[in-house]
Amino acid sequence: MLSIWERNSFITYDHIVLGSGIVGLTAAYYIKKRFPSHSVLVLERGLLPTGASTKNAGFACMGSPTELLDDLSRSNEQEVLELFLLRKKGLERLRGLLGDECIGYAANGSYELLFEKDMAVVEQLDRLNQLLYNEIKVNAFTLASEKIRQFQFNGTQVKAMIENNCEGEIDTGLMMKSLIQLVLASGVEIKTGAEVISFHDATTSVDVVCRNPLTETNVLFKASTLSICNNGFAAKLLPNYDLIPGRGQVMITKPIEGLPFKGIFHFNDGYYYFREYKGCVLFGGGRNLDIENETATTFELNKKIQDDLQNKLRELILPKFSFETDLQWTGIMGFGKSKRPILKKHSERITVGIRMGGMGVAIGSEIGFELAAMI
Ligand SMILES: Cc1cc2nc3c(=O)[nH]c(=O)nc-3n(C[C@H](O)[C@H](O)[C@H](O)COP(=O)(O)OP(=O)(O)OC[C@H]3O[C@@H](n4cnc5c(N)ncnc54)[C@H](O)[C@@H]3O)c2cc1C
Repeated sequence: MLSIWERNSFITYDHIVLGSGIVGLTAAYYIKKRFPSHSVLVLERGLLPTGASTKNAGFACMGSPTELLDDLSRSNEQEVLELFLLRKKGLERLRGLLGDECIGYAANGSYELLFEKDMAVVEQLDRLNQLLYNEIKVNAFTLASEKIRQFQFNGTQVKAMIENNCEGEIDTGLMMKSLIQLVLASGVEIKTGAEVISFHDATTSVDVVCRNPLTETNVLFKASTLSICNNGFAAKLLPNYDLIPGRGQVMITKPIEGLPFKGIFHFNDGYYYFREYKGCVLFGGGRNLDIENETATTFELNKKIQDDLQNKLRELILPKFSFETDLQWTGIMGFGKSKRPILKKHSERITVGIRMGGMGVAIGSEIGFELAAMI
């Protein structure tokens, strides 16, 4: 039941964006920039953005050598290069839009740990460097195995280390907060606690049905266009799209005195990742251990994977240090058969930007920008 004031001032917009992750927020910002006199509303079901954008590990990364080689085994060089360039372009856009200070960007080094089973990768570095050289004008990957000792990793397990010369790290919380501030300052409205439960493509507008959790009633918003940017959660609203949710498990330690490394690290084809953050170690991954249970849109911790993270932290990463766990959490990503995101017109009035995989920090702002250009 709406009042006349609510109906006249709160319900009808020129553009509605569904989802306040990095893609939805960036899309909303650029839609407003394209159409300054139009009203733009972001509908977010969580009290906070509650997908992957505030839950990831804060890696500004282009792909580790084992990940890129794995990609090359599934698709051709052109496709792998295009994805690399999309990540590069996205990170440049994010840094340009918000500024390095506002996203906490730092280039403290990026590395991949190799085990006995991975050693053939070393022979492939020249191939990868050649593939990327024209775009970045430096060798992306160099051997840095001497740092295994300096960083005090378990040297009986870690056989080699590769340094990646074109990656950095961000402070995810700072980045998202800065993005929200920029979006609000541009004149976009954001409503939280606003779950879109259905939409209807009408002739002259799109009806967007939202659940009001307080009154447990539906509220019908109307807009000229709808942009759907809810990534791993999109299957409910868009059942015919190739989209599978994927949960990522993460943990962080309390500060560790004398922690001997900084920077970001990957291993096992990008399935595991860790980094230093304010003297603590943030560690995530292991989805491959229990893919079936991790194909989920709920946020539960997975004991098997969290235990595995603890073990790897103790035995592989911090064999010489004791540590205490501060927090454990999960985030939901969106995957599909292809690694490429879905960016397409669903209909004349509805545009979709979903399935960012494990790359949305890198590509999210570019996808938001490109989506806005399609409206
Ligand atoms: C643990 C982890 C590690 C990662 N590591 C990296 C990395 O190293 N590098 C990298 O580039 N990327 C990484 N990512 C991926 C990256 O975080 C995501 O791809 C990116 O944040 C996706 O942004 P998005 O805006 O598309 O979606 P999201 O951030 O998921 O935003 C979608 C939003 O839609 C809202 N929503 C959902 N359904 C509805 C509805 N019906 N109505 C209203 N709102 C709704 C959700 O609450 C959410 O806030 C990682 C992700 C995780 C979880």
